[in-house]
Amino acid sequence: MTESFQKIQERDAQLICRTYGRYPIAIERGSGSRLYDYDGKEYIDLLTGIAVTSLGHCNEEIAEVISAQARKLIHISNLLYHREQQDLAESLLALAHFNKVFFCNSGAEANEAMIKLARRYMQNIRKNNACEIITLESCFHGRTLGTLAATGRPALSDGFAPMPAGFKSVPWGNLEALENAIGPKTAGVLVEIVQGEGGVRPMNREYAEGIEAICRRNKVLFLVDEVQTGLCRTGKPWAFQHFDLHPDIISSAKALANGLPMGCIMAIDEVAQAFDGGSHGSTFGGGVLVSAAACKVLEIMRRDHLDARAAELGERLMQRLQAIAEKHPDKIREVRGMGLLIGVELSIPGKAVWEELLRRGFILNLSHEVILRLLPALTIDEDDLTAFANALDDILSA
Ligand SMILES: *Cc1c(COP(=O)(O)O)cnc(C)c1O
Repeated sequence: MTESFQKIQERDAQLICRTYGRYPIAIERGSGSRLYDYDGKEYIDLLTGIAVTSLGHCNEEIAEVISAQARKLIHISNLLYHREQQDLAESLLALAHFNKVFFCNSGAEANEAMIKLARRYMQNIRKNNACEIITLESCFHGRTLGTLAATGRPALSDGFAPMPAGFKSVPWGNLEALENAIGPKTAGVLVEIVQGEGGVRPMNREYAEGIEAICRRNKVLFLVDEVQTGLCRTGKPWAFQHFDLHPDIISSAKALANGLPMGCIMAIDEVAQAFDGGSHGSTFGGGVLVSAAACKVLEIMRRDHLDARAAELGERLMQRLQAIAEKHPDKIREVRGMGLLIGVELSIPGKAVWEELLRRGFILNLSHEVILRLLPALTIDEDDLTAFANALDDILSA
C-alpha cells in the first residue's frame, strides 16, 4: 500500500458515508477489461462495476456516441418527445414478447416501477385489490424501502422500520411452498432466474417453468428481475429466455448503458395499460444522452452476437473451473452459473483466496465470504479468463 493510497482511504473515511466495504484499491482509468490504479498497476476486471460495463471500460464506440450526444442535447424532461428514447424502446422490445417500456435510472427504481405496475394492474384493471408480492428467500431486489421489503433480509432492513407491507418470502426451490403462499391478496410472484447477490444460484428449467405455471393457475402476475442477468450476460438477451417462460413484466438496469445510470421495465400491453396519465414518472428516466448510449450498447451486443459469446466463454470457463474443483475437492464445494455469471463456492474461508487474487491483479467479488463471483465483460479476451483460472488453481495448490 503506497502513501498516496492511504491518503485516498483517509479522505474517503472523512467525506463519504460508510455504507460500503471497499476493496483496498483506488482506480484511475480503464480500458476494455483492464483497470489501472494510481500507481499504474494493471488489473484484470472480473467485476465490471457489478455486471454494468459489459462492453468493457471506455468502449470507443460508446465513448464516441456519448461525446457527440453531449454536444447536441443531454436532457430535456419526459414532458417533451425525443427520438433517442423511442429508438431504444424499439430495440429493447425487439428482444422479447413485451409491448411497452418505462424508463428510470437504477435497478431498485425499476423494481419499484414493476411492483407499482403489478399492484395498479390488479387494483385498477382487474379490480380485485390484490397488493402482495411473493419473493424467494435470499433474493435481492434493491435498497429503496419498497425493494428492501421485497428483499426481506433482516440484516439489510435493520434500523429502517417500519418496512412497507405487502411482501412475503418463500423458500428457494420449493414449488409447493410457493403455491401455498398465494392467496386472494397476491398480485404477483417476483423472481431472479439466477440469484446474483444471493450467491449465484441459477434456476433449472423445471423450477422456473413450475413457478410460471403456478402464477398462471392462480391468475397472478409473473415478474422477473433481470437487473443483473439482463442483456446477454447469461447467454441470452434475458435469462428467462433459456426456458419456456413469458413473464408479464421484467426489470432491467445494470448493463443497459454500459456505465451510465439507466433502468427500465418492460410489460405486456394487458398489464402496461394500468400505467396511465400521471400514474408514475421519473425526471431523468430515459434521458437523451443515456438513451443514445444504451441504443449503441444494444446495437453492439446484437452486431457482435455477445449473447452467444457469453454462452460459449461461460461454458468453457465453467468446464475449466469444474476441473479445478475436481483437483481440489477439499477446497471448492461447487461451481455454478449461467453464461458469464459464475460463482465458485469454496469450502474454505474465501477472504485469503480473494486477497491473493487481488494481489495478483484480479478484481472480483467475494460474496457470503465463500463465493467468488465472476462477472467479466462479455467482450473479455479468453486469455484473461484462462489467466484467472490458472491463478486460482495455483493459489489453491499452495
Ligand atoms: C443490483 C441489483 C438490483 C438493484 O440495482 P441498483 O441499481 O443498485 O438499485 C436489483 N436487483 C438485482 C437482481 C440486482 O442485482
